[in-house]
Amino acid sequence: MLKIDIEKCIGCGECEEVCSFGAITVEDEKAKVDPGLCTLCGTCVDTCPEGALEIEAEEKEAKDLSKWKGVWVVSETRADGFAPVTFELLGKARELGDRLSVDVTALLLGSGVKEMAQELIQRGADRVIVVDHPELSDFVDEAYSKIVAHLAEKERPEIIIAGATARGRAFVPQVATMLETGLTADCTGLEIEEDSRNLLQTRPAFGGNLMATIICDDRRPQMATVRPHVLKAMEPDKERDGEIIDFEPSPELLKHRVRVVESVVEEVEGPGLTEADIIVTAGRGLEQKENLHLVEDLAKCLDAGVGATRAITDAGWISSSHQIGQTGATVAPKLYIACGVSGAIQHLVGMQGSEIIVAINKDKDAPIFDVATYAIVADVKDILPALIKKVCKERGIDV
Ligand SMILES: Cc1cc2nc3c(=O)[nH]c(=O)nc-3n(C[C@H](O)[C@H](O)[C@H](O)COP(=O)(O)OP(=O)(O)OC[C@H]3O[C@@H](n4cnc5c(N)ncnc54)[C@H](O)[C@@H]3O)c2cc1C
Repeated sequence: MLKIDIEKCIGCGECEEVCSFGAITVEDEKAKVDPGLCTLCGTCVDTCPEGALEIEAEEKEAKDLSKWKGVWVVSETRADGFAPVTFELLGKARELGDRLSVDVTALLLGSGVKEMAQELIQRGADRVIVVDHPELSDFVDEAYSKIVAHLAEKERPEIIIAGATARGRAFVPQVATMLETGLTADCTGLEIEEDSRNLLQTRPAFGGNLMATIICDDRRPQMATVRPHVLKAMEPDKERDGEIIDFEPSPELLKHRVRVVESVVEEVEGPGLTEADIIVTAGRGLEQKENLHLVEDLAKCLDAGVGATRAITDAGWISSSHQIGQTGATVAPKLYIACGVSGAIQHLVGMQGSEIIVAINKDKDAPIFDVATYAIVADVKDILPALIKKVCKERGIDV
């Protein structure tokens, strides 16, 4: 906090003048600080001619890290079962749990979800904590974060991981704030440093130009959200045994300020990006919006999803729900066809896990060719019509 030495303060007002946050006022020739407005930026401290101001570090109670044990996964359900990222997280949690010699616990929140718990055990969990309540039939971040934070405070896991999905992004930061710990969002890799038990959390940084590995070495739990499709799920093992624990949330934990009026499922033509086995992606090399149909037609022939680079979503050629990359979706289809895509790092981080990558670009030095399985150095306006003709003819499809 900002401390003012009243003996030294001469009420000159220089601190009031330089404070951009209106946190300091001079009354009766003495400076006064409003802690609610002060951001501890330190500008006033440097300005004060009398050295009357000082920022005092708050002594935080050091946590006894050894009291926190176990790896937790926050599962995510949909109308038709678990979101695939849940199984991907469990696969990694199993590996981390084995290296740390601790249990893996999955949290299952929702209404009418209890019978799904066994599937989490088959996918790697040793224990499942089920919070099954009618009040949780709609996802509401406030209730979810209070329940998860309450359980974590009670049971003290050393690691909590969740999907970097719309849900995870909405409530996991709130859990981290409640638990006064760190959170690394949008990780693309997780490893363990065995001696310290620190979780090594890797994610793109500085606009995707480098990968940063982040640790949270003085707080617990260590929290991370992980992008779908970057971790490998375990095959289900029907023989695995585990414990299913019911937790009845108190009315206080269920209380929230949101009323869900309606849930609307977005209608997408063709397979959704994250489920598609094949994706055909459009880049600025298509040259103009009128040529976008070439990618859409090929996608239709192949029953593929349509992807896009940020260059063309920003240009308004197609909606941002098609964007692949650092600020879009992460995908890993069997076949990825990049049409007129340069291969900027921010795009590559979202698609380089694809099994086979075919790139069409007229520049033979385009970076996309560094990750491509097959490179076609040509004009997309020549190649795509020829491909569409051949594929559609073979499959008997009219476009
Ligand atoms: C913080 C941040 C986040 C970002 N997030 C994303 C993201 O999530 N996803 C994303 O895609 N980008 C993202 N970007 C933008 C990214 O840096 C690139 O600008 C973008 O991916 C480029 O898109 P592009 O390949 O379509 O266009 P360009 O880079 O302009 O490339 C067009 C390519 O087409 C080729 N070409 C031109 N004409 C033809 C033709 N007739 N036939 C064949 N080839 C042709 C050219 O040789 C060139 O290689 C982000 C940037 C920042 C800073």
